[in-house]
Amino acid sequence: MIGTCQLCRKSKILRESHIIPNFVFKWLKDTSATGYLRPGSNPNKRSQDGVKQYLLCDDCEQLFGNWENKFKNSIFLPLSHGKANKFSYSSWLLKFAVSISWRVLASCFKQDLSRFSTIHLDKANKALEVWREFLLDKRPHPDKYQQHILPMDLIENHNDPNMPTNINSYILRSVDMDVVWFKKRAFVYSKMCRVIILGFIDEDRPNYWEGTKIHVHKGIVGETLRYRIPENFIAYLKDRTNKVRSSLEGISEKQWDRIEQTYSKDMDRAMASETLKATYQDVKMFGDKAFVKNNSKKK
Ligand SMILES: [Zn+2]
Repeated sequence: MIGTCQLCRKSKILRESHIIPNFVFKWLKDTSATGYLRPGSNPNKRSQDGVKQYLLCDDCEQLFGNWENKFKNSIFLPLSHGKANKFSYSSWLLKFAVSISWRVLASCFKQDLSRFSTIHLDKANKALEVWREFLLDKRPHPDKYQQHILPMDLIENHNDPNMPTNINSYILRSVDMDVVWFKKRAFVYSKMCRVIILGFIDEDRPNYWEGTKIHVHKGIVGETLRYRIPENFIAYLKDRTNKVRSSLEGISEKQWDRIEQTYSKDMDRAMASETLKATYQDVKMFGDKAFVKNNSKKK
């Protein structure tokens, strides 16, 4: 397919690019109980990988690929396998984060603009352009359109009566993306299993975020034991978690049978899987309530 590459804006053959990089889906599949993925948006359908769009030419895709590899090997895999929780980085992390926020926002622009007001669209367009220039080395940093990273961990204790009962499954096993607007706060949200990346579109109180900002040249992820994040962001995370649960409740009887059959074909795989570990943690905290299938059947 020939078209205009959204990054370099040259007319070229376009590649079908993953919005969230493919290695994330590969890892999810490799460590799943069944070897298949079911997208949150349509859990009745098995899928092999995530959302793809014709966004980039070969050269730009390769540029992104270099940062993706760095991120995969230096942070994503060690964190996902519980081998490390502190990571030093150099300039590649900010490039990677911007490339993710840029892709998610650009793909969202291609799909559905109706939920944004003109003021929002204007701000989002500015962020998109600043990020594009930063990716092409036309500016030294992304200015106020900062990138933040949150490495997530299991929740073992909590005193929140409204904590979603699938919280650990969501934290450890979900891929999610969104463009979010609160009153005075807007950001691109990209979740790749245990790593959340935020790209600020509009934030008048950046000091409400502590320990999460990605620096231009170098830094350490996971250095601070205490992070500070705004309360409405925590509420947003719970909301996303509940959404995944509702969509799981929409899995048909036939598909549950299919999942069970796949489980029983390779019990060893299922028992050793990361899927089971995440579910185990939810069950430990919430008991039977953590089981989506049984609960939806009782209704
Ligand atoms: Zn290009």
